[in-house]
Amino acid sequence: MAKVDMKIEGMYQEVLKRNPGETEFHQAVLEVLECLGPVVVKHPEYLERKIIERICEPERQIIFRVPWQDDKGIVQINRGFRVEFNSSLGPYKGGLRFHPSVYLGIIKFLGFEQIFKNSLTGLPIGGGKGGSDFDPKGKSDDEVMRFCQSFMTELYRHLGEHTDVPAGDIGVGGREIGYMFGQYKRITNRYEPGVLTGKGLTWGGSLVRTEATGYGATFFVNEMLKARNDSFEGKKCLVSGSGNVAIYTIEKIHQLGGTCIACSDSNGVIYDEKGLDLDLIKQIKEVERRRIEDYTKKHKHAKYIANGNIWDIPCQVAMPSATQNEINGKDAATLVKNGCIAVGEGANMPTTPEGVKIFLDAKIAYGPGKAANAGGVATSALEMQQNASRDSWSFEYTEKKLEDIMINIHRNCFETAEEYGAPGNYVLGANICGFIKVANAMVAHGLI
Ligand code: GLU
Repeated sequence: MAKVDMKIEGMYQEVLKRNPGETEFHQAVLEVLECLGPVVVKHPEYLERKIIERICEPERQIIFRVPWQDDKGIVQINRGFRVEFNSSLGPYKGGLRFHPSVYLGIIKFLGFEQIFKNSLTGLPIGGGKGGSDFDPKGKSDDEVMRFCQSFMTELYRHLGEHTDVPAGDIGVGGREIGYMFGQYKRITNRYEPGVLTGKGLTWGGSLVRTEATGYGATFFVNEMLKARNDSFEGKKCLVSGSGNVAIYTIEKIHQLGGTCIACSDSNGVIYDEKGLDLDLIKQIKEVERRRIEDYTKKHKHAKYIANGNIWDIPCQVAMPSATQNEINGKDAATLVKNGCIAVGEGANMPTTPEGVKIFLDAKIAYGPGKAANAGGVATSALEMQQNASRDSWSFEYTEKKLEDIMINIHRNCFETAEEYGAPGNYVLGANICGFIKVANAMVAHGLI
């Protein structure tokens, strides 16, 4: 092993020791560190200033109790988190995830990814993430409201448009952002739209923010296909999940001439070889908040596969848009064997390291989450711009900005991969390109 790689391996071992049991965080750190050998050879100052060691240690971690009462009057206790990871490029920015699987290791992996993703957008935002082990599934609207109010009663003191600006993630959408914004406003007596993004359109939200992550991921895949003289036209696509990211990924795939034949939720898979009826999916998921199985009530020809594995269905384009580690080595091998030529990650870290290796070895177009799904947070930054100037932009203008940002991210990752001798490797391109900008800012800001 080269001396520099041994040094980086030592840093990784230190991360393991300092953060025991946080396996998702370890995975996210390793993926970035593995790419940095040639970077520190070019930039010895990063080693001298211990930039890598500092980047792996969050600037601040907040853990708090969230007590609330359910509809029966019974007291419930959850745990809240906000990890303020890195503020060298701007205020901490990143979503809140409400899901029973949430613990510190998940929030740290997401916060760590967010640093480089936000850097790739080219916009002035640092990296952070938060959330709770609260499970919104099966909760009444009132219960969700009481939980959000209690959560914000603690979190508000850490936020501010120049300090830390949360948004949504799994389990947190427009409804939850509304309740949290209301509580923030009540406690602080300030109408400060710039403190949260993903707001409703009549009270400071931005057009296109709802669609942004899915649209952006699809624009990114479109760029990868264009780089290979190909397009979405006539392609059969799989999109896992059926939440916000999945829905608007499907919408944009259809607009660009592809056909999405399957999506999923945590219970099963819907397979519709004629192409998914997106209006029905929106009705089931966004309006009724029900399970995807209901799709077959209206479309008898479609198949519902309980506990099915969506990656077993042959496709040309796969866009994992559900959650971390949803594509393992075996799934990746199946996708490649079945003729998949492009993978674009709408979710954060949806592919295991074994799966990533299979995609890279097969030389298919593989767009990692921190590049491919950066359109969501980029549009959050556009929402912050509109809030700061008390302006609101049209749908067309905002969507064009989003598309330009995704085209830029693709170009930067593509060119960085070439520069470092790994053409077509968007993992390397994204990690190096995202890292260098943060590292240079940290060097400039001195030892803080
Ligand atoms: N949760 C989203 C992400 O993973 C969006 C964050 C934001 O808009 O701040 O990037």
